[in-house]
Amino acid sequence: MSGGPVVNSGRAIADLRELDRRTGGTDGAQRLCWGDGWREARALLGELLGEIGLTAEPDPAGNLWASLEGEQEPALALGSHLDSVPEGGWLDGALGVMAALGVLRAWSEAGVPPPRTLMLVDWADEEGARFGRSLFGSSAFSGALDPAEVRGLRDREGGMLVDVLAQNGVDLDRAPEAASRQERLAAYLELHIEQGPVLEAEGLRAAAVSGCAGVERHRFHFSGQASHAGTTPMDRRRDAGLAAAEYALRVEEIGRRHGGVATTGALALRPGIPTAVAGEAELLIDLRHPQAEELASMLAEALAAAEAVAAKRGCEHASEPVWRIEPIPFDSRLIAAAREACREAAGSDRVLTSGALHDAAEVARVLPAAMVFCPSTSGISHAKQEDTPEPDLATGIEAFGLLANRVLSDPPTGMRAHGLHAERVEQLHERREVRVLGRPPNDRAAAPLELEVRARGHAQVREQGEQVLDPHQPQPGEDRPAPRGQLLERGAKPVQLGRVKPQPRGVAAAVPLIQLHGTVLKHGEALVDGRRTTEDAVADEDAGSTSAFVFR
Ligand SMILES: [Zn+2]
Repeated sequence: MSGGPVVNSGRAIADLRELDRRTGGTDGAQRLCWGDGWREARALLGELLGEIGLTAEPDPAGNLWASLEGEQEPALALGSHLDSVPEGGWLDGALGVMAALGVLRAWSEAGVPPPRTLMLVDWADEEGARFGRSLFGSSAFSGALDPAEVRGLRDREGGMLVDVLAQNGVDLDRAPEAASRQERLAAYLELHIEQGPVLEAEGLRAAAVSGCAGVERHRFHFSGQASHAGTTPMDRRRDAGLAAAEYALRVEEIGRRHGGVATTGALALRPGIPTAVAGEAELLIDLRHPQAEELASMLAEALAAAEAVAAKRGCEHASEPVWRIEPIPFDSRLIAAAREACREAAGSDRVLTSGALHDAAEVARVLPAAMVFCPSTSGISHAKQEDTPEPDLATGIEAFGLLANRVLSDPPTGMRAHGLHAERVEQLHERREVRVLGRPPNDRAAAPLELEVRARGHAQVREQGEQVLDPHQPQPGEDRPAPRGQLLERGAKPVQLGRVKPQPRGVAAAVPLIQLHGTVLKHGEALVDGRRTTEDAVADEDAGSTSAFVFR
């Protein structure tokens, strides 16, 4: 059993019904972000928080936070998003916010402070339904949002994102300041509907989520020769339409073979009339897989297949990337805790990967994070038919409450990576993280291990896609997660890997910095036995040294 008060799931479901009554109805949820329905939803959340004596305050990105003070910080954050797609479902996002409120309410009504501060968060514009940029608020929090990239976005009516934000009290240039709250948080948990058919099909009421799949989205173009449909013999055609059709089937097969998902969601032919062989065809394909290596293979095969199909059909082809995001795994300790909570509440022991992106994926870049899924009736979401049977909702909310209480009393702490000799330290693209590649010192032929040190300083060791984690035991009196990963190098002398220095925003030629042994290194510099030197000098100096790290 977990300690802590039980969440009143019936009350949370009643809150969801009230939200639906005010901002939804027979045409589905009308909570498009930054609009009236969304503000109405937030007003209801404000009322409900007021009932337990809490007030909500927005951060610079428009995320709404409420805090129930506990015995210590950093806080445990719980939340999701109140915004919906137009005519969306009543549960997508709203479930996680009302379940989070349920946890705060349970502790508030219990009359004792939680073991650590609880924060509720309603992330702004998760859906991106109006401006096409999903995860706005949570990416501002994680540091992934670049205001310059979204400044020019307009909605269908021509409204500028930057103006609509201003009407809602958000200054786009200051939105990244939302990241300052990272320092106050220990972990993040989110309850969400699955939005797919797996749990329902397996008869399960709740499941832990291992992470969000990575996405590769590409546009492919085939060009052949438009010609008369009546006079061009079949063996003389250069049919771009058939190349595209055959290609779509190849993409499907690639998805199946790798155990991922592959979608041709758009296909356009030109001239697009019944009396002409298509001379031009364009497809948009979307590949997803939870493992980076598999996703990379899927993309490589999709690119090769385009070449092969074009050659077979006598067509030219071209492709361009549209959007990509790497797979984002959740924290393995929190996944384990979520499994236990689901076992206890639902009697199920299932871990799913999310094919959809969630705010938790953004948060997981900088904080230990995990999710719990509830089933979706017929797997339908982003539609007014979206639903989950009430008993399943209740079970999911209870599992989430158990998980929150577990993490409140036993948050993930920093960890120790044993026996890793760092061979290379590199800055990960687009992410304020470094990756350390190394091998166990007693087995230099072993497969390299990766240690990722994230912006906030917690570390994860991965081996061939599997996380190998060894939680660091907190020292007496240690009330924060240990801010460092630790490596043991040659001679078993411990090496402290320090905090990654984020690149200053808006600086075009920013110099990535990392800190090792308390010494700040620039790109191309090295640390040999605690002395800073240049990469070029390492070969000579390394000969008699016990440790050498090159940052490149
Ligand atoms: Zn959602």
